[in-house]
Amino acid sequence: MSLLETLQKGNTNPTASEAQKDPVAEEVHITNEPAAKPVTPAAAAAAPASKPVKPKAVPTVPADVTFDEDSIPRIINEIFTEAIKQHASDIHFKPTEKQLMVYFRIDGSMMEHRIFQKVFHNPLVARIKILSSLRIDEHRLPQDGKSGFTTEEGHEVDLRVSVLPTQFGEKVVIRLLEKNPQMVELRSLGMLPNILIKVERHLTASYGMVLAVGPTGSGKSTSLFSMISTFDPTARNISTLEDPIEYKIPGVTQTQINTEIGFDFSDGLRTLVRQDPDIIMVGEIRDQKTAALAIESALTGHLVFSTLHTNTAVGTIQRLLNMGIDRFLITAAIKLIISQRLVHQNCPKCRVSYPLPEKYYDLFSEDSRMHPKQIQLYRSEGCAECKNTGSKGRIGLFEVLEMSPAIEELIINNASHTEIEEQAVKEGMILLRKDALYKAMTGDITIEEAIRAMA
Ligand SMILES: [Zn+2]
Repeated sequence: MSLLETLQKGNTNPTASEAQKDPVAEEVHITNEPAAKPVTPAAAAAAPASKPVKPKAVPTVPADVTFDEDSIPRIINEIFTEAIKQHASDIHFKPTEKQLMVYFRIDGSMMEHRIFQKVFHNPLVARIKILSSLRIDEHRLPQDGKSGFTTEEGHEVDLRVSVLPTQFGEKVVIRLLEKNPQMVELRSLGMLPNILIKVERHLTASYGMVLAVGPTGSGKSTSLFSMISTFDPTARNISTLEDPIEYKIPGVTQTQINTEIGFDFSDGLRTLVRQDPDIIMVGEIRDQKTAALAIESALTGHLVFSTLHTNTAVGTIQRLLNMGIDRFLITAAIKLIISQRLVHQNCPKCRVSYPLPEKYYDLFSEDSRMHPKQIQLYRSEGCAECKNTGSKGRIGLFEVLEMSPAIEELIINNASHTEIEEQAVKEGMILLRKDALYKAMTGDITIEEAIRAMA
């Protein structure tokens, strides 16, 4: 039997097959903590101390193992199954000069999974290409494809496959998308109670725009969906435009954007407003056309939710101005801007406290209510519950700007970023930096995670 035949007869089931250009789906899901088993002090002590995320031991394929074509489909199945079991968001097949490295991205961090001899590289890549209906005889051009995978336990995921030629051969990155991801409740995202109250208040409005902003992988769509799922889809006409459709919400009309056939967010939005919606979600505002249409919809009796790729709440206003949106329209349409990040949460089972080290005193000096000497920080040492990583799921950090008459006036008068931010803070906005430090003090995250998010 030829290698090709061996690869084709494997037992993985590809599903959807049309090739698709995918501006990489960006969200990772915040995990809800399952009830944890108690860990004995002895077990906790026996566990090695570790940094927030510590790579696991790496099983390699030893040099004396002979290459066997028939094993390729099985190996791919094993890798996919293990990635799903470990809740990886991506699998990387990265060729080096002499080896093939397989990594999983878990909770945002790259973890080495397996190392193969180079002889496995091309057959494994070919197998993935077949599963995602890509050309196996093409090695010089990048390719994008889709597939699906179901574990023996019936866990289904969609696979977005990207192949890129490199100096050591083709590198494959596969994004795993839960077929039916679990929605995170608005109250479980990690918003401080006073922020949550603000957000919930705006969800009762009948028009206006709520934006979730942040870099790739900051949990923006998770937040949007948490908000959308608070509405009753039988009482309101809720429609979304997405790329890709991630969470499936019963009763909500969800439309997949497909830029490859010329169907982009602005086309979708233009049609959607003719469908008499009450609530509209636009997956992402990427261009002026979409921004203008979304703002217009928000001003004509629709509650509009969307995301933007900006770093701060106030920076979003400048971004929209740069897109050519009139400052009067911005102040009239935007009600709330939620800037956010996702950070690793300390494992609550093996968490220990320690006094704030002197080198961090400056960070906390603005908060005069507590002397730095009184501040405790937390880190998790690693236990069975967190697989010795010290980290358990992720939590959001938030900076929420609420439009107010004073802020509107500042925007209209072309005030600086600093002036607007100072006003917002005066009105109760908690800067993302503060939220990070607060969560470090309360033990949700390590100081290292807080500093990373503040960068
Ligand atoms: Zn732990």
